[in-house]
Amino acid sequence: MAEQNTQFPYAYQFDATLLAKLLTRYGTDRGVRHVLDDVVHAEVDERGDVTHVRTKESGDLAGDLFIDCTGFRGMLLNKRLEVPFLSYQDSLPNDSAVALRVPMEMSDQGMGPYTRSTAQDAGWIWTIPLSDRIGTGYVYASDYCTPDEAERTLRSFVGPGSEDLTANHIKMRIGRSENSWVNNVVAIGLSSGFVEPLESTGIFFIQNGIEQLVKHFPGGRDDHQLRRSYNRQVANVMDGVREFLVLHYIAAKRDNNAYWQDAKTRTVPDALAERIEQWKVKLPDADTVFPYYHGFEPYSYTAMILGLGGLDVRARPGLALMDDTAASKELRQVRDQAASLVERLPSHWDYLAHVARLKGKRS
Ligand SMILES: Cc1cc2nc3c(=O)[nH]c(=O)nc-3n(C[C@H](O)[C@H](O)[C@H](O)COP(=O)(O)OP(=O)(O)OC[C@H]3O[C@@H](n4cnc5c(N)ncnc54)[C@H](O)[C@@H]3O)c2cc1C
Repeated sequence: MAEQNTQFPYAYQFDATLLAKLLTRYGTDRGVRHVLDDVVHAEVDERGDVTHVRTKESGDLAGDLFIDCTGFRGMLLNKRLEVPFLSYQDSLPNDSAVALRVPMEMSDQGMGPYTRSTAQDAGWIWTIPLSDRIGTGYVYASDYCTPDEAERTLRSFVGPGSEDLTANHIKMRIGRSENSWVNNVVAIGLSSGFVEPLESTGIFFIQNGIEQLVKHFPGGRDDHQLRRSYNRQVANVMDGVREFLVLHYIAAKRDNNAYWQDAKTRTVPDALAERIEQWKVKLPDADTVFPYYHGFEPYSYTAMILGLGGLDVRARPGLALMDDTAASKELRQVRDQAASLVERLPSHWDYLAHVARLKGKRS
């Protein structure tokens, strides 16, 4: 068993391009024409609709609806249609990242089933275990730290051997487009909006954009109510996630330098400031968190507030009048059950290798 689990079959190495390939095959098998090229220009008619895009090598491509997936560039929506971008930087200042790929033999040392975020002097470092390496990166605010300082911090965090690895510096556009769907252009992904990846919400935003587009898919006529409804939903999701992220900084105990001190006094949306005051005397519930769907439930807020421990939270006075014997018993059972499962279940590495092997056999 141990020997079998030491290597992933090559075809199932985890790789983001695999999903792109899978989706390409899924589409082309169903009649989609896949053109790989650079868009150099978009032609717009008198109503402001894009009529066609000009490509470097494949000529003009006409269409009724255009999805702008050009990343932070926002080529169709922001550049061509000049839709304003609303920055969140006043409340979320992290605008840069530097990343390293650290090769690692996971079968020797096992791998964690989670991503770790480690606070730093001007942001935080992510550590993501993959089957053959660790993906790590420092997300930081350029107002507080230079790219060279950030790279040095990341390399020293990784430790010996990191000096030979190539660092990838990334500039991030934090915020959202005023409207993600304007005329016949729908921006999905980074062109629509982005917040720092502290809660890994980038792919969630993409999935949400796609699901909403399916729900709001236009017919032949221009229906501005569909666009309005789409834009409101997509904006609410991002504004809600913004609040959840801001809470991480306000609720953190850390205040050892200007970056963390400023995090406590930075402008926050008015409604959030009021909510935080409420949460200090009554932990979040459905009535007091951001009122529109944004992917996080009240219990996520509670876990964040209690886990980070920097807010002066008081228990509801009414709780003192209740007997906690039954609740304590239940929590003990949950803890014992978790400990027993950790003893009995295979490690994360063993489990993933097992699944990969089963799939390899099936294909
Ligand atoms: C530092 C960082 C960490 C992240 N971590 C996470 C995470 O942990 N979890 C998560 O869910 N998300 C994460 N994300 C977000 C995730 O990376 C993005 O949501 C996702 O990659 C965005 O895809 P996209 O297609 O919108 O943009 P991109 O991946 O930037 O793709 C845009 C594409 O458009 C192409 N393009 C641009 N202009 C043209 C043109 N003129 N013609 C033709 N093609 C063009 C580019 O070549 C590129 O391939 C992270 C993002 C960053 C920056």
